[in-house]
Amino acid sequence: MLTGHLKLLKDYFDIMFEKHCQTCGIEVDKKTAPKRFGRYFCSEDHSQQYLKKKEEYEKRMEEEEKKHPRRRGGCC
Ligand SMILES: [Zn+2]
Repeated sequence: MLTGHLKLLKDYFDIMFEKHCQTCGIEVDKKTAPKRFGRYFCSEDHSQQYLKKKEEYEKRMEEEEKKHPRRRGGCC
């Protein structure tokens, strides 16, 4: 029977073409799910949450960089 193989293939495609909400991890329907930033979300609400988290993370990274400046362009 091919069933086992097909399931493996399905799992593979699920990973390849991520279709889980990036905020809560629920499986989403590609046809109906809102797509933002190349990722799928279960709802508009969760895409906003993801964006907020992303911005917070980027801001934190920026602050870290200010606290610990990396030397750029310096020649050794
Ligand atoms: Zn969600």
